[in-house]
Amino acid sequence: MKSLQEIAAQLEGYDPQALSAAAANDFLLRLVEPVRDLESVTIFESLGRVLAQDVVSPISVPPHDNSAMDGFAFDGAQLAQRETLTLEVAGTALAGKAWQGTVHGGQCVKIMTGAIMPPGLDTVVPQEFVSAQAAGDAGAARISFPSKLLRPGDNRRLKGEDLREGEPALQAGTRLTPAACGLLASLGLPSVRVHRRLRIAYFSTGDEILSLGETPREGAVYDSNRYTVHGLVQRLDCEFIDMGVVRDDPSSLEAAFRQAAAQADAIITSGGVSVGEADYTKAMMKKLGDVAFWKIAMRPGRPMAVGRIGSSVLFGLPGNPVAVMVTFLAFVRPALLRMMGSTQAQAPLLKARSAEAIRKKAGRTEYQRGVVNRAPDGTLEVRITGNQGSGVLSSMVQANGLIVLGHDQGNVAAGDAVDVMMFEGAI
Ligand code: AMP
Ligand code: MG
Repeated sequence: MKSLQEIAAQLEGYDPQALSAAAANDFLLRLVEPVRDLESVTIFESLGRVLAQDVVSPISVPPHDNSAMDGFAFDGAQLAQRETLTLEVAGTALAGKAWQGTVHGGQCVKIMTGAIMPPGLDTVVPQEFVSAQAAGDAGAARISFPSKLLRPGDNRRLKGEDLREGEPALQAGTRLTPAACGLLASLGLPSVRVHRRLRIAYFSTGDEILSLGETPREGAVYDSNRYTVHGLVQRLDCEFIDMGVVRDDPSSLEAAFRQAAAQADAIITSGGVSVGEADYTKAMMKKLGDVAFWKIAMRPGRPMAVGRIGSSVLFGLPGNPVAVMVTFLAFVRPALLRMMGSTQAQAPLLKARSAEAIRKKAGRTEYQRGVVNRAPDGTLEVRITGNQGSGVLSSMVQANGLIVLGHDQGNVAAGDAVDVMMFEGAI
């Protein structure tokens, strides 16, 4: 575990008073480590969790060559022989068991989707392509179809075409999606080893902050940050330890930080970290931990406290509701993903055409709330959602992503391409 000073020494030009968003991310990814405790969970419980070991396929999927369609299986070499192929139906192969008969030239087997391909047969003509002649005095049932409709091997799924026995199916560090859960189940695995869930303790600070149910009073606002952070933490499948609103007095803050550090892998707070804060939050962080106070070259956001209290990582977020969400998405989320054991890169930013000009100062990263739509010409277009004040949550609700205007970028002209961090999955 490196101290903040050691990390700072590794970063060229580290200036806590004017930190670029990229440098802040870089710092945080050096500060945190993947949680070491592992556990086994069932596949139902594994969604959103992070695999702790590589999964090697114990079987081939599918386990045998099988039909991809309801139709008739036959030897595809016969396609080249006639313009219209007429085949005698020798029997029926059902899904779930192997057909036991034998097939001669000029014969086929009626086959259901998923049924094992009878030996020697490699092609399936779908039911809807054939004209059928029922069995009768003239002999067995027959089917006919134009040969040009098919090529040898059509409509057959090969053994192991999804996964071959002994091949790596999923790598350690993969965050399990619905598709990955299905894949694990297709291998017949009842459970998997994952990193244990992170425990995240959260409290809001500030004497003006009301908890739900409290009577409104002049100068006070309801605590919204606790609910946005709760939602953001839930989306990461971490455990949320709700510590409420903590009063701005040294003994309450000290007790809260100590209790949080004793229980949680990470402590997230909001409020009380800006310059010139009259409260005790910063002083208590400094007293109890190894903490740096940053001014990040970004908007909204800017002040943030990071470090450790005991063995817990501390993310002291600003108080403004939108700044909380933006700093969470930009810095806390990538750091938590690493702590969860995930090795996956962040979702790629989308490029969309800005529908309007945006004023932007070079030298800081700006995150604007935007709505991405498909323009009539089929391209992606993004429009800013109204009031961009750092306390205005309603424009965050309307947005489906954040327009990310990079550190060096200046003004954006209407029609320029901009980067967008889509909310889907994170919010
Ligand atoms: P601070 O960073 O503590 O100076 O707070 C900045 C602004 O955010 C102030 O207007 C606070 O009232 C507001 N704020 C702080 N914490 C919360 C919270 N938990 N919920 C809603 N607003 C908050
Ligand atoms: Mg405050």
